[in-house]
Amino acid sequence: MTNPVQSIILDLDDTLIENSSSYINAAEAFSVFMSGLGFSKPEVTREAARQDRKTINSHRYGKIHFTGALVNTYKSLCAKHKKKHSPAVCRQIREAVDKEFSNPAEIYSGVFDTLYYLKGRGCRVFIMTLGDKREQEAKIIKCGFDTLVEGWHVAKRKDASAYSAFVKKNRLDPCNTFMAGNSYKYDILPAKKAGLKTILVYHESTWEYEKLSGEVLKNGTLFVKNIKELMVHF
Ligand SMILES: [Mg+2]
Repeated sequence: MTNPVQSIILDLDDTLIENSSSYINAAEAFSVFMSGLGFSKPEVTREAARQDRKTINSHRYGKIHFTGALVNTYKSLCAKHKKKHSPAVCRQIREAVDKEFSNPAEIYSGVFDTLYYLKGRGCRVFIMTLGDKREQEAKIIKCGFDTLVEGWHVAKRKDASAYSAFVKKNRLDPCNTFMAGNSYKYDILPAKKAGLKTILVYHESTWEYEKLSGEVLKNGTLFVKNIKELMVHF
């Protein structure tokens, strides 16, 4: 009897390429910049978190929306302190974020080996990522993943229905399809709800941000320390 064809859907940010560090660095640079304008660090951090939550709650992800949230933080703090906001400062904030994101994405060690390996094993490989379509597609193409995977999808929401729709569109067998990603919230839980097998890929800042612990591994999710460990399991 031949083994059924296995499929794997890979997350992009912080699974195949480093992404969080650009956001962390840009937020830190923004905080320093705002201190220079006389705003206190705790106040900036609080307001930036509030603006960020607003953006994420309305399912707007990616650099463009992150930049918008920082500009809104500046404007909102100006209003609070009865200062007039300056368009030149808004421009400076946008330019500073652009600078932080201008470096090419760091592709994690072993990613290409893993993609070739999975394909060599007859596995159908896809990417499903959350965010702005243009931004995410540009990353996929720039990294050269477009020629290595069978297809990709930039989702506005990563929920169970998005995974089910992807499975249906690509005629995948959910019982033989794995979702591998660094986020328990966006990759593991919804994929599991859609009936897929799941692999949580460790990433330090997600682990911290989502306050994950060993508990999350009790639902049958396989845990790997990095993407190249997939070569051990497939
Ligand atoms: Mg991710």
